[in-house]
Amino acid sequence: MDRSAHGPYPHGLRPRLPSPLQPVANRQFDASGVRLLLKRDDLIHSEVPGNKWRKLVPNLSAARAAGADTLVTFGGAHSNHLRATAAAGRLLGLTTVGVVRGDELADRPLNPSLARCATDGMRLRFVDRAAYRRKADPGVLAALVEDALAGTGSSPGSAWVIPEGGSNAEAVRGCADLGEELRGAADVVAVACGTGGTLAGLAAGLGPGQRALGVAVLRGGFLTEEVRGLQHAAFGGTRGDWRVDDRFHGGGFGRTGPGLTAFADGFEREHGLRLERIYVAKLLYGLTEMVSAGEFAPGTTVAAVITGPPDPA
Ligand SMILES: *Cc1c(COP(=O)(O)O)cnc(C)c1O
Repeated sequence: MDRSAHGPYPHGLRPRLPSPLQPVANRQFDASGVRLLLKRDDLIHSEVPGNKWRKLVPNLSAARAAGADTLVTFGGAHSNHLRATAAAGRLLGLTTVGVVRGDELADRPLNPSLARCATDGMRLRFVDRAAYRRKADPGVLAALVEDALAGTGSSPGSAWVIPEGGSNAEAVRGCADLGEELRGAADVVAVACGTGGTLAGLAAGLGPGQRALGVAVLRGGFLTEEVRGLQHAAFGGTRGDWRVDDRFHGGGFGRTGPGLTAFADGFEREHGLRLERIYVAKLLYGLTEMVSAGEFAPGTTVAAVITGPPDPA
């Protein structure tokens, strides 16, 4: 297995690549003379979709090269990344362990997302929020991984540890393929940012003259620093022309005010396409606000990356 768009990929993880690039006629964009394209990464794979496929597959090959038989990773109770990792583990026959933020969840019924992880064979370890927050500290991380592996038959030496959201150097290099697929196709390529790993790779893969725009879905204004750090880890320095826009998080991760919900409902009706609400709806909302405010010159082509499918109802 290699990380290029041309495979070969292990059975069960074969992608639809390059993902489709679809022009759409949108009222607000058309009125401003701006062309909107949707880059349909949500269609890459049915169980490991979107940017999660682009980030995980290079980690799976690195894990295999390191002789690992177990994947350990981290996420919140609704994490798309945990679900994708659990599915990939099942498809490849790897043990997966998910370290979940919030030890109070251990005594409650699993929500649908975690239930899906468990059905795919992921072992779930619930940890208190204070320890979870400190997992960037190498000592805390080592202890969390050791605890997580207890009873699995795996040792830390045979585990491949993937950070929260799946963003590490391998993942960022995998996302450079997304930029390469879009070379020459748009002036601006926009993506929603959680950890910033997808933006970091995308920006590196674009061609000269193309700009990458990240729309933060979390508050705090820390993403520029994160993206810079991820590019350093992946490429040894900053790459490409990119920036993060912090105006559209709507109050924080998972926050959806009435404005965002009305926008997303309207977009779905206009385009006959259901939207993932945590990331993709905020991206399209932010872009629509920007285009309506005249922030893109007429004649600009904007490609919006649809990084994942809507949540299962
Ligand atoms: C995880 C996720 C993101 C965030 O990607 P980062 O690389 O963490 O910035 C964006 N969109 C969707 C649909 C996701 O599941």
